[in-house]
Amino acid sequence: MFATRFAPSPTGRLHKGHAFSALTARQAASEAGGRFVLRIEDIDPTRCKPAFEDGIYEDLQWLGLDWEHSVRRQSDHLDDYAGAVEDLRQRGLVYRCFRTRKEFLDTIGHAPHGAAEAVRPGPHPQDEEAELLRAGRPFAWRLSLDAARDTLGGAAWDSLSFFEEGQGPQGENGRIKARPETAGDVVLARKDAGAAYHLAAVHDDALQGMTHIIRGVDLFEATHIQRLIQSLFGWPEPIYRHHRLLTGPDGRRYAKRDGSVTLQALREDGMTARDLRAEIGF
Ligand code: GLU
Repeated sequence: MFATRFAPSPTGRLHKGHAFSALTARQAASEAGGRFVLRIEDIDPTRCKPAFEDGIYEDLQWLGLDWEHSVRRQSDHLDDYAGAVEDLRQRGLVYRCFRTRKEFLDTIGHAPHGAAEAVRPGPHPQDEEAELLRAGRPFAWRLSLDAARDTLGGAAWDSLSFFEEGQGPQGENGRIKARPETAGDVVLARKDAGAAYHLAAVHDDALQGMTHIIRGVDLFEATHIQRLIQSLFGWPEPIYRHHRLLTGPDGRRYAKRDGSVTLQALREDGMTARDLRAEIGF
């Protein structure tokens, strides 16, 4: 059965871009006579706030959306993600990384944001790791792309792909080759949270039976590494439908930092949900 989701992170109030994304996914589920799930992706303890989660329900209700009764809040399920990382650890697919962000920046010479994420530092030498563990230093778990390739085998690695029903940033659609190497040895469990976005999201997509991932094109690149994680666990492959990002009158995409366009602010200014829906094409 067709199933899709809206999976916001409660790091601020929702804006028009979120409304567009949620309505796009909701409409697709309705058209297909399928399921629509709301998931709260709140594993980042520094940026997520309960008040913003309340704001999500308030704004989506105001928009006239409905969703399946049970809402999964990721921070309630950290054990699930830890269990998945442990599974990978037993299979030699992850390694501990004690390096700090500053250490990375120092070694790569202040690479721009993004490039700094696509690193493949490799495991620490054994004696160094033992010492860091003894000293109680916090560590992240990183996926080893080399180990992942060995586990899958070259042929499966080379044929890893996804099906795009929407469009990537360069208009990509149809069957697309996955290039997980673009993400580097991605962090699957953060130092501070014990979980991280890619793993938690694909874990939940599988658990919740999501057949279609409908989300903004800003997450298109994330699909490459997410497909690899799915295949390492033998989780089913969903179909992807990345949608365009809504832009404001100045041609720039809406972003959380621009407080003026939150749905809450629009509502307080007297905009009705009907007006907003019409403005963004629903
Ligand atoms: N939680 C992510 C965000 O708010 C969305 C994740 C996804 O749709 O895969 O950007």
